[in-house]
Amino acid sequence: MKRILFISTGGTLASSHSAHGLAPGLRISDILKKIEGLTEGFEITEEDLFMLDSSNIQPEEWAELAKKIYRCRWDYDGIVIIHGTDTMAYTASALSFALQGIEIPVVLTGSQVSIENPIADATENCRAALHMAASGLPGVYVAFNRKIIMGTRASKVRTRSFDAFESIDYPYAAKINSNGLVINPSVVPRSGSQCILQNSFSTDVFLLKLFPGISPAIFQQCADMKIRGIYIEAFGIGGLPFIRRNLTEAIREVVEQGTVVAVGSQCLYEGSDFTVYEAGRQVLDCGVVETFNMTSEAAVTKMMWALGQYDEPETIRKVMKTNLLGEMGKTMDWDIG
Ligand code: ASP
Repeated sequence: MKRILFISTGGTLASSHSAHGLAPGLRISDILKKIEGLTEGFEITEEDLFMLDSSNIQPEEWAELAKKIYRCRWDYDGIVIIHGTDTMAYTASALSFALQGIEIPVVLTGSQVSIENPIADATENCRAALHMAASGLPGVYVAFNRKIIMGTRASKVRTRSFDAFESIDYPYAAKINSNGLVINPSVVPRSGSQCILQNSFSTDVFLLKLFPGISPAIFQQCADMKIRGIYIEAFGIGGLPFIRRNLTEAIREVVEQGTVVAVGSQCLYEGSDFTVYEAGRQVLDCGVVETFNMTSEAAVTKMMWALGQYDEPETIRKVMKTNLLGEMGKTMDWDIG
C-alpha cells in the first residue's frame, strides 16, 4: 500500500463561509472525510500545517513547508499539499528550488470552490494529486483540472474557471484521461538525485512590471531601500524605454552598485530575446540576466532563493543564468489531448 501524507495549508479548498467572508476553516480530517472513496487502497497520514488564505503564505511558510517535507520524505511514497490557488505557483516554484533533488513526488493542489460545495472541483483535483503523489516520480508538481504541471512552470491564469492553471511554455508533466494518469516521459525526472535542504529565501527583492512612462528613479529608490535583486517584466520579446526616460542607464548604475537585475517578458508565452531590438539589446550590456521563458513566479522565487543562499552578486547572476530544474528552456510539443 502506498503511504501518502496529506498536508493542509488552507486555501479555498479548505474554506467555509465565515462572518468575514470565505476563509479557511476546514481541518485536513474534514477534507479527507469528503473524499473517503478516493483514498481507499492508500495508507493516508494527515497533517494540518497552516490554515491560511494563500495570500498570507510567504517565504516563512515556504521555509517551514520545505523543512517539513525534507524531514519526513523517507516516511512516505508521496506528499499532497492542499494550498490556496492564488499563490500556489509561487510556493510550488519556491519548494522546487528549496528541495532540489527531492526523491519523492510532492504535489500541490487546491480548488476554485470549497470542497463543501457540491459542484466543487476539489475532489477531482485531490484525485489527480493523490495519483501523482503515488506515481513514484520525484519532483514538485501542481495538480489541477486533470493536468499535472512542473512546479516551476505553473501559473494561475484564470480567477474563476476550473482550468485556472496552465503549464507555461512547457509541456504538461502528465494528464488524466480514460487511460488513467498518463505521464509525459520527456518532462518528468526518472529519479531524484539527493535532496539537500536549501530553504533560505531573501525578501530583499522587487518585481517591476514596466508601463509606458515609468520613472527610471525607481531603480535607485530600490537600491536605497537595500533591495538586492530586481526582476523586470519588460515589453514584448524584450524592450525597455531609452528616450526621455532612460531605464538602461538607471539599471546600469544600480548593477554597478551590486544589485542583481534580471529581465524577462510581460508576455506569458514564448519568452524573451533581448538581442532582437535596439530597445532591448542595450540592457544586455549592463550586466543584467535574461530569464527567457521563465514565469514571473519562477524568476522571482529563484531570485529570492539565490539571494538566500549566496552573497556575491556575481554568484547570484551565475545561478540565475543556470537552468537548474527545467524552469527555463525551449518549448517542447506534447499532445495534451
Ligand atoms: N484566496 C484563495 C487562496 O489562495 C483562493 C483559492 O484558494 O482558490 O487561498
